[in-house]
Amino acid sequence: MITIITNKILGKDSTSSKRADGRASDELRPFKIEAGVLERADGSAYLELGGNKVMVAVYGPRELHIRRLMQPDRAVLRCRYNMAPFSVDDRKRPGPDRRSVEISKITSEALMPAVFLEKFPRSTIDVFIEVLEAEGGTRCAGITAASVALADAGVPMRDLVVACAAGKSEGEVVLDLSEAEDKDGEADVPVAIMPRTGEVTLLQSDGNLTPEEFEKTLNLAIEGCMKLSEAQKEAIIKRYGD
Ligand code: UDP
Repeated sequence: MITIITNKILGKDSTSSKRADGRASDELRPFKIEAGVLERADGSAYLELGGNKVMVAVYGPRELHIRRLMQPDRAVLRCRYNMAPFSVDDRKRPGPDRRSVEISKITSEALMPAVFLEKFPRSTIDVFIEVLEAEGGTRCAGITAASVALADAGVPMRDLVVACAAGKSEGEVVLDLSEAEDKDGEADVPVAIMPRTGEVTLLQSDGNLTPEEFEKTLNLAIEGCMKLSEAQKEAIIKRYGD
């Protein structure tokens, strides 16, 4: 009964599996990825996914002057995820907060396994992720764009890391949750993989899922990653040719 009322409010046909924004359960929001969009960065990328607009700039590898951060046998990969004050409905207070510090950390950890850090001892690679507009799923959008920006900077990598979330909304396992689905939904599972090996470099889970639902959600997120992975490759090819 509750489902029927909700669907009526959302203008949905209660018998169809369509979501509030008209997508099928396994459908990504419209997306585009561009490489090499900033003149002054060593590498850059721009990504749109639904209402998300994300710009990434990469600097390095370059010498790291802060001794306490320096690693004698490899580069450090520093990521800064930042949401612009105008990126969300309620103006976001500028500067870092708990959430952005957490997302910066997991982004760095998701990207690190793909980068040949050992080729650049005592160096740093700096990744700046700027969320210009947010509509749910920005951490995944940031990781996907960051990996294209790293490739654009010529940083040697095993693979392009790609990220996508799946979750549960209105009792159904769905791909790539919108902001509304994320806020009102039952679960959100962001996943990052290296498509060539299938290695998972990020797996977070927020909400409640049965083991069966979790498996379905994970597989759906990986399917989403594979679709976005094609767009990453196309962005690099468009910039540098085959
Ligand atoms: N959001 C917001 N204000 C904030 C932080 C987040 O409006 O200060 C919105 C934004 O659209 C974001 C969504 O909430 O994409 C979900 O945030 P979450 O922390 O789940 O991370 P995300 O899904 O973006 O990776």
